[in-house]
Amino acid sequence: MDYNLLADLLLPDIDKTPEYFEEKYPVRPLKEGARVTRFAPSPTGYLHLGGLFGALTDILTAKATDGISMLRIEDTDKKREIGEGVSAILDGFSAFGLEFDEGVTADGEKGDYGPYTQSQRVEIYQTIAKQLIREGKAYPCFCTSDELSELRSRQGAPFGGYYGKWAKCRDLSYEEIKKNIDDGKPWVLRFRSEGNEENKVFFDDIIRGKIEMPENVIDEVLLKSDGIPTYHFAHVCDDHFMRTTHVIRGEEWISSTPKHIALFRACGYRLPKYAHTPQVMKIDEDDGTKRKLSKRKDPEAAVSYFVEEGFPKEALIEYLMTLLNSNFEDWRRANKDADVFSFPFNLKKMSSSGCLFDMAKLNDISKNIISVMTADTVLKRVLDWAEKYDGEFYSVLSADKQKARAIFNIDRENPKPRKDISKWSEVPSYLEYFYDEIYTPDYTLPQNIAPADAKAILEEYMKV
Ligand code: GLU
Repeated sequence: MDYNLLADLLLPDIDKTPEYFEEKYPVRPLKEGARVTRFAPSPTGYLHLGGLFGALTDILTAKATDGISMLRIEDTDKKREIGEGVSAILDGFSAFGLEFDEGVTADGEKGDYGPYTQSQRVEIYQTIAKQLIREGKAYPCFCTSDELSELRSRQGAPFGGYYGKWAKCRDLSYEEIKKNIDDGKPWVLRFRSEGNEENKVFFDDIIRGKIEMPENVIDEVLLKSDGIPTYHFAHVCDDHFMRTTHVIRGEEWISSTPKHIALFRACGYRLPKYAHTPQVMKIDEDDGTKRKLSKRKDPEAAVSYFVEEGFPKEALIEYLMTLLNSNFEDWRRANKDADVFSFPFNLKKMSSSGCLFDMAKLNDISKNIISVMTADTVLKRVLDWAEKYDGEFYSVLSADKQKARAIFNIDRENPKPRKDISKWSEVPSYLEYFYDEIYTPDYTLPQNIAPADAKAILEEYMKV
């Protein structure tokens, strides 16, 4: 068959060539060893704590090597997308002070390798798809979902999928394809896999070491019937043209990596390095087992939970750092005031097993961080939090800021500060002792404040 003819039949509107995009997105002029990473969430309206963990890994990897980190929005799966999806992600990052060098931001995008939203990159995917068709490496498939389920039931276990002898559209003639197209039959574009299930592929995962898996044999879908790419194809095109050097992503993608390796090879692209990060786990309160932090069961799975509870942003980031690299705490002891982003992060020091989220440890870290804040900072942070989440408390506190400041100054700004606040939502009950207007139902006397301190506060208050 004349594959050029087929390419023009299937994608008639594509008139650019891969070379055009090679030139548009040149290899980045970075110093040797600089790593280019990307965080690539789907806009599902929710930022999972694991997402913050992943994004931190990308940013730290880039920073530690004078590289570049990007934020790319993967919105090719319209079923998963919700309207405000992107802003939930951006809000989550900005609340915790995470900033990418390139990509989508609240005011548009920054960087020369965009667009950074996949739905705006369709021309790139279709250009590469057209090239694959020209080379005989991709073909249209007209199978309906009924035909595919019938195929699945005929195949049975253990090896499902569209491949080899089961791939009935693999060898359609040009005339058959043309007729289907003329009849208006929907089609998807499939990869013509040359893999052999007897062969193995290997890749070096930076976190997990050498991984060996069977070669991909599946004729994976590259473009869906609306011309939008699948994750697999978009990953290959985007990470090539954005010149990503290190693909850091969740461990759930390990099993798809042979597909990606086959696609990178078919396109003639250099393979990025892969690092598959572990999941964030917790100990289940009911049965004591270790399980994945779940969006459905655990409020703390959402990054917004930490904002609403009023954890200072530094505390959550500091805590996540202890999960990311086990040598972080030693580094912190030696570099007490250093910016967290100057930590020499190393992907190789990440544990490959799930990391355990421990609220008690976060609380401790947070108490330490709050204890060394000045009274003015505490007052400002508490007011900022209360303005959004507790209007009544906000009015009480802002009615007499000097009094509030004096209270926050008890046992503060001295070598042994009091460590009793771990998050701003605890402050109303902490202050109930001093304000008749504050009533918190779960308040138990004498709570955190000793009577001697109360006297000191009043004296202090009188001074102002
Ligand atoms: N959009 C994918 C996800 O949300 C990203 C995977 C990747 O980082 O490549 O899981």
